[in-house]
Amino acid sequence: MTARELLQQVAIDRGDAEGLLANALRVNRAWLFAHRDEPVDDSCAEHFMEQARARAEGEPLAYLLGYRDFWSLRLNVNRDVLIPRRETEHLVEWAIERIDAGAQRILDLGTGSGAIALACKSERPQVEMCAVDGCQEALSCARANGESLGLEVDWLYSDWFEKVPPNYWDLVVSNPPYIAANDAHLSRGDLPAEPALALIGGHTGLESIDHIVAGAPDFLRPGGWLLLEHGFDQAELVAGLLRTKGFSKVSTRRDWSGHARMTGGQWLN
Ligand code: GLN
Repeated sequence: MTARELLQQVAIDRGDAEGLLANALRVNRAWLFAHRDEPVDDSCAEHFMEQARARAEGEPLAYLLGYRDFWSLRLNVNRDVLIPRRETEHLVEWAIERIDAGAQRILDLGTGSGAIALACKSERPQVEMCAVDGCQEALSCARANGESLGLEVDWLYSDWFEKVPPNYWDLVVSNPPYIAANDAHLSRGDLPAEPALALIGGHTGLESIDHIVAGAPDFLRPGGWLLLEHGFDQAELVAGLLRTKGFSKVSTRRDWSGHARMTGGQWLN
């Protein structure tokens, strides 16, 4: 069968199908387009059909391909980690602003695939970067990404701040789990296949954020910043938590689709 025929046979999004077939053939989509009437080798065709079936049943494209592009990096991903989202690139932009304003010791809490830590380190290699996760499998994925990209990060297995040195960090950045346990979004899109630990922030969704805000002052140096990603409807609640704890300069930023997506503040006490 030719590439064109294979693409016509599957009942999934055309872009996804092209991505999967290009990946099975180890070529890029431009090559696929130029050679679409040439026969595809049987084992590649079979692999593609299997993957297309899995995609039709809801397996995320990123897990099937084994990677997701984030910032300027290609990150390997698997079912142990959240698939990095475009929204989170805005959090990286904010973190880089803080680095350029002088932050040197950076902590990424709940690093998953390593997305935030690796993006910041790739842009500003001079920083001291530590990335924490409470899941060993996620940390292995992040560490492997760091090794293959040649980026030096201190990977730490820790339940949030548990094993982290106190009074040390200029910037704590996190995209924690923030979805409520009974939220209908959990059954949509890629979410059913992603680790619950990376998505669900507890009964209200805010439990992990609350835990981080409560703990951060003991770990930040005076003048240090805490930047958090959160749900599109949680900005006021998160800003309230930060102000109540005593953070200054609390502000919220929007993502590319206009949602109030991240909130941060400075610890001056
Ligand atoms: N920090 C990682 C990311 O933003 C993982 C986040 C998570 O698992 N909640 O992709």
